[in-house]
Amino acid sequence: LNKKGDVVASAVTNLDIHDIARLGRTYGLKHYYIVTPLEDQKKLVLKIVEHWTKYKGGEVNPDRKEALSIVKIKDQLDDVVKDISAEDKELCIVTTTASAENSAVSFYDMRKKIDTDNKHYLFLFGTAWGLSDEVLKRSDYVLESIEGGGDYNHLSVRSAVSIIIDRLLGDRY
Ligand code: SAM
Repeated sequence: LNKKGDVVASAVTNLDIHDIARLGRTYGLKHYYIVTPLEDQKKLVLKIVEHWTKYKGGEVNPDRKEALSIVKIKDQLDDVVKDISAEDKELCIVTTTASAENSAVSFYDMRKKIDTDNKHYLFLFGTAWGLSDEVLKRSDYVLESIEGGGDYNHLSVRSAVSIIIDRLLGDRY
């Protein structure tokens, strides 16, 4: 969504590509899909990813090459679902939002599901003003939002991904 609540395709933030890929590789995520129907954005993302995975960049920085190797670029959500559904297990789609939803599943319960259900999990994160209703409706679960405890709640998507993935997959003491 944009500021006015219209459904839009937003620009991809370069920092998100690197930071989320590194996070994903560190926490053992199989893929990090970047979804945009915009041809110029896809070209830009591909150029950045391939610089580090195929060309000179990867020789200079093999850690970055490894992280960016989990990135896949897709036109739309359906293509992501198709890509995962071609694999062996049932798919569970989980959406994320900054707004508190009554029906949201807690981090604790989601962690238990991941540990016990033999499924692939696809976590969807938005950009700009968040995910549209159309996308939210496709989810099997909406995840509890992160609350910082104050009256300001405007995390960047890469910060939100880091906090959420750590809560769901990180070591617990
Ligand atoms: N107002 C938007 C919303 O309600 O989701 C915030 C958009 S934020 C710039 C981009 C994305 O980061 C969101 O679509 C969501 O995936 C994630 N995100 C941001 N803040 C979050 C929070 N407090 N809890 C859970 N996810 C959050």
